Amino acid sequence: MYIVNDILSAVIVAAKGLYPELDAQIQWDPTLSGDDLKAKIGRVGTWKKPEYGYTFFPDDSSTPTIGISPHIKVTTAAEVLAHELAHVAAGLEAGHGRVWSDAFNAIQLRANEIMARIGEGE
Ligand SMILES: [Zn+2]
Repeated sequence: MYIVNDILSAVIVAAKGLYPELDAQIQWDPTLSGDDLKAKIGRVGTWKKPEYGYTFFPDDSSTPTIGISPHIKVTTAAEVLAHELAHVAAGLEAGHGRVWSDAFNAIQLRANEIMARIGEGE
């Protein structure tokens, strides 16, 4: 038994399809309030606690950690996940520039295609 149209899984499958090397530890972070649409990228200790999500790149270049607030709508969480996976794909230095936005749009588009296919019964 599983959720047949899980939008979070669709985002992960989309990102893996586009960036086969991409890896991240993804976790719900209940300490993120989810009160305001703010997400941050950075290294630990250098930024204020975000409210929706974050990508943490360890100093030793090991697998990044993505945290998402469990207090937000599932559809919003999926968008935040796509946002954060785009950071992992684009790299820390890309910020929210062109490389990141191209990755974000590509992941979103692919995830929507996957969800549409599920809707049609594949
Ligand atoms: Zn961001």
